[in-house]
Amino acid sequence: MKYIVVSGGVLSGIGKGIIASSTGMIMKSMGFRVTSIKIDPYLNIDAGTMSPFEHGEVFVLDDGGEVDLDLGNYERFLDVSLNRDNNITTGKVYNTAIEKERRGLFLGKTVQVVPHITNEIQKWIERVSHMSVDGNSGEPDICVIELGGTVGDIESMPFIEALRQFQFRVGVENFCLMHVSLIPVLGVVGEQKTKPTQQSVRELRALGLSPDLIMCRSTQPLEDETKGKLALFCHVSKDNVIGVHDVSNIYKVPLLLNDQNLPALIVNRLKLTCKVDLIRGP
Ligand code: ADP
Repeated sequence: MKYIVVSGGVLSGIGKGIIASSTGMIMKSMGFRVTSIKIDPYLNIDAGTMSPFEHGEVFVLDDGGEVDLDLGNYERFLDVSLNRDNNITTGKVYNTAIEKERRGLFLGKTVQVVPHITNEIQKWIERVSHMSVDGNSGEPDICVIELGGTVGDIESMPFIEALRQFQFRVGVENFCLMHVSLIPVLGVVGEQKTKPTQQSVRELRALGLSPDLIMCRSTQPLEDETKGKLALFCHVSKDNVIGVHDVSNIYKVPLLLNDQNLPALIVNRLKLTCKVDLIRGP
């Protein structure tokens, strides 16, 4: 099992869900069976009780699970049918750990965020990632995990720590981290600014996770000079800096990623045996 983790920096609503879905779609088009997990670092058990004005629409799964609308994107992009367990929330994880504690399953230990909550998160990811979601028997090849929220938030800390441990649990060659960040343009100067991304990557690295790919959201296509600067300051090669500018239709995002060689970068990083020839766009 290979894992592609998508984290986000600078601010929320940056397009992590679309990038995660598009990446999954690209991998699926290469012949791999793909599943996905969305992590929402809030205390609600699910999105069913949350105001749509605050949180956006609730997406209802085939098993009745009321979840974040990103799971709707995954179902549409990947043509899969996800289960309620494919959406992990802080509420669900704590609920499970507290129920175990009441049943005495921690054998008298002091129950703590590290290692008990972080273990619970890792076990959950491992269990759900092996479940088939495309109607065929056998398990998927790749699991795309989107970590909601922004790196550095108190809420997402246990998940970041769990993922840091998880990369060693599954092996570094089975774990690829894509960090989605914002490249703003300062009106007067008209220059694409890299500092917010530099700082969010620094924050991620301080927490023990080093991005393999930096996905840059911007209004206009990413300039070559911006890519070079990000590569220099964020400790990735220039090829691994991918621009994802605003497009008129979100279904164009997979093409944008393909044009920048994302399929080959992931295949090489995860040492995948590709089932089709890679076609790079213009
Ligand atoms: P996040 O998962 O980071 O909260 P989403 O993936 O839900 O963000 O995207 C937030 C909004 O931005 C959505 O309405 C989505 O359709 C839009 N969006 C994301 N990427 C792009 C893009 N490249 N071009 C135009 N709109 C986009």
